[in-house]
Amino acid sequence: MTYLPFARVSIDEETIAGVCQVLRSGWIATGPYVARFEAALSAYVGGRPVRVVTSATAALEIALLAAGIGAGDEVIVPAMSFAASANVILRVGAKPVFVDVELASRNLDLARIEAAITPRTRAIMPVHFAGLAVDMDRLLALARSRNLRVIEDAAHAIGASCRGRRIGSFGDIACFSFHPNKNMTTIEGGALVLDHPDEIHYVELARFHGIERDADNNVDVIQAGGKYNLSDVAARVGLGQLQQLDAFCERRRALAGIYFDELSIDPPGVLPARGDAGHCWNIFTLLLPFAELGLTRVQFQHEMAKRGIGVGVHYPSIPGLTAYRKLGYDDRPFPNAARIGRETVTLPMFPQMSDDDVRRVCRELRAVLTNQT
Ligand SMILES: *Cc1c(COP(=O)(O)O)cnc(C)c1O
Repeated sequence: MTYLPFARVSIDEETIAGVCQVLRSGWIATGPYVARFEAALSAYVGGRPVRVVTSATAALEIALLAAGIGAGDEVIVPAMSFAASANVILRVGAKPVFVDVELASRNLDLARIEAAITPRTRAIMPVHFAGLAVDMDRLLALARSRNLRVIEDAAHAIGASCRGRRIGSFGDIACFSFHPNKNMTTIEGGALVLDHPDEIHYVELARFHGIERDADNNVDVIQAGGKYNLSDVAARVGLGQLQQLDAFCERRRALAGIYFDELSIDPPGVLPARGDAGHCWNIFTLLLPFAELGLTRVQFQHEMAKRGIGVGVHYPSIPGLTAYRKLGYDDRPFPNAARIGRETVTLPMFPQMSDDDVRRVCRELRAVLTNQT
């Protein structure tokens, strides 16, 4: 019985050979492959400038700083996402203001944003959960009418589109992740897509010590920058992955279709929103009513693991996490986020899965649930 993890990377031989070439080249840190990778990503998202860094977390934190957000400012963020979505707001000294998500799409409930805006609100940070795009036209219109920035946590959404336009092609700042669990990887890595020359300059300083070179190549440090530059080795992995990204997303969509075929009749819980052809299916999550089932999620994960199937949890509600409780937050005002946090499970989803792998996951899932009820 082969074990099916909930996520697994696919690195092809061409990419591995390319990485070996970089390793043998004598230059492995930031260099020509980073420049090529940025150009390729920019072309992929429709031509806006791209700067790569060592993670999406770094990208989001730098994006907030580049937008001038800090102490005294408020940023609107979904109450259910990976903790990094809100951690970065605290790290720049600003205040996360949580808004509940919709149960099926798991995305920010746009109808609730207006009520969360105060005179201190500076930005909205949507998450395109699982690769299902937030309605960007509606969100950008709202943000512009209130003079707010939009910084997209597009960690799940490389390869996703909204009404036929790729995520990364819309106005303001978008941040991608290339962690191995995302739709394409650089091992660790992230990218910002942004337009303002001053903000691009800020990112370049922030990611490499604040170093600037003049026309004669004299080096100066003009601000206390950090160290978030990507290596050429990582960029070469990314170039190989980017070539396959559309095929990966296509396969993920097909796998999601089989999950719906298997689970839509007598669904064992709340299925995710199907979305449209722009959904890039980074993860396939399901809500299971553990309290009614007389089963804990940990027991469920354990039973599935015994049957060779890895089950993840994406994600607990952020205001319910210890670090946020200590700051006085809790998740009672966000019933959908709290429920998702208690009931969500992530089923295996990666391009190398076979159609039969999906059917096996669904068969074992039903078996575990019926044994327990
Ligand atoms: C993975 C993830 C991040 C962080 O990405 P890293 O590249 O690991 O820093 C941020 N937000 C969301 C929603 C994520 O899933």
